[in-house]
Amino acid sequence: MAVREILLYPDPLLKQKCDLVTDFGAPLAELVRDLRETLAASPGVGIAAPQIGVLQRVVLIDVTGKFPERRQLVLVNPRITTLEEYKIIREGCLSIPEFTANVRRADKVVFEALDEHGQPYAHRTDGLEAIAIQHETDHLDGVLFLDRVACLKTDVFRRKTKPSARAQS
Ligand SMILES: [Zn+2]
Repeated sequence: MAVREILLYPDPLLKQKCDLVTDFGAPLAELVRDLRETLAASPGVGIAAPQIGVLQRVVLIDVTGKFPERRQLVLVNPRITTLEEYKIIREGCLSIPEFTANVRRADKVVFEALDEHGQPYAHRTDGLEAIAIQHETDHLDGVLFLDRVACLKTDVFRRKTKPSARAQS
């Protein structure tokens, strides 16, 4: 197990389309463990394999910090089948830490995926978890949230990382 380095934009690996997972052996188990360790050490609610440089269709979602009744989700070869109730939300990305942006996302999704052992499952969810699933699934196709912004001039915001920044704005 290891906390892996998270690739930062504009690393070219973040713009690649990832491969379907076909082998559910030890390398996949190690990848999932590394994603768990890396996400646990970060402020995010989701991470995709390409963010640690692995071009495989694997996503980890964890909103249990905000919603303890939910559970961590491992999505292998995910496919979103339903997107409902679109709205504009403010979104960030571990690979683009300095910015947030207004992005149009569905509030409710249904997806199909395999778990880390290769067992198929389907899941319906909403809110933060639904948004994270759309964001992380985008990563598997080399799509970043900046690609989803309607207007780069008005919908992208630099994070105010220092408490004093507010007074300066
Ligand atoms: Zn991201």
